[in-house]
Amino acid sequence: ALRPFIVGNWKMNGTRAMLAEARAIDRSAQRLMKVEVALAPPYTLIHAVHKEAEQIGVGAQDCSAESDGAFTGDVSAAMIADAGAKFVILGHSERRQGHGESDALVRAKADAALEAGLKLIVCCGETEATRDASGAEAFVVRQLEGSLPEPFEGVGERLSVAYEPIWAIGTGRTPTVDDIAAMHRAIRALLVERYGEEEGGAVRILYGGSVKPDNARELLGADEVGGALVGGASLTAESFLGIVMAA
Ligand code: 13P
Repeated sequence: ALRPFIVGNWKMNGTRAMLAEARAIDRSAQRLMKVEVALAPPYTLIHAVHKEAEQIGVGAQDCSAESDGAFTGDVSAAMIADAGAKFVILGHSERRQGHGESDALVRAKADAALEAGLKLIVCCGETEATRDASGAEAFVVRQLEGSLPEPFEGVGERLSVAYEPIWAIGTGRTPTVDDIAAMHRAIRALLVERYGEEEGGAVRILYGGSVKPDNARELLGADEVGGALVGGASLTAESFLGIVMAA
């Protein structure tokens, strides 16, 4: 099996006071070599978390599709890499819904991030209405078809996909283990079709949405779940490490 990948997405949370949590996570992660642990703090903390971290990976929650120039307020992939980021989360539903990001824009951002040498976590997920209409798998596969980059060097190592049903984010609700497994198998089939058996088979597919210490073992045990993308429960070392421990 692939080494589990547990990523904390701090979203728009955290000032320098939260560096103590990052330090505590890093120190404990050193003793858990069988799990790959990473944090995606806000842009303003990337460099500081990078300086603290000896074991965990540090990434960003987004980047621009542009390389440089007159784009006030935007941050390029090269800038986050320069600040110490090793990966970037792209196409989170809070970007797609709150900032109108299309599949094509997510793909353009992925291309820019690869150009800057970053790894990618490309997010996907359906709304509750789509789930209720039984169209979730077709929707997510189509979303990924439009969002994932063309084949590139080191796909298996550099790409992760995060399946995050929108209705499970921050709600305390999660799909059943069977529903997660079915979705992850559909995503795996797409990855193998696009990137080939070996590379597409090595991409880790993370589950995200209300992952907590007390449900992590069950959710991470579902077929084809290679890790977790954690929001709220990544904000303290105690709860995040509870999830890491369950992996
Ligand atoms: P919660 O873990 O707070 O539900 O957030 C999930 C998420 O969106 C991670 O990217």
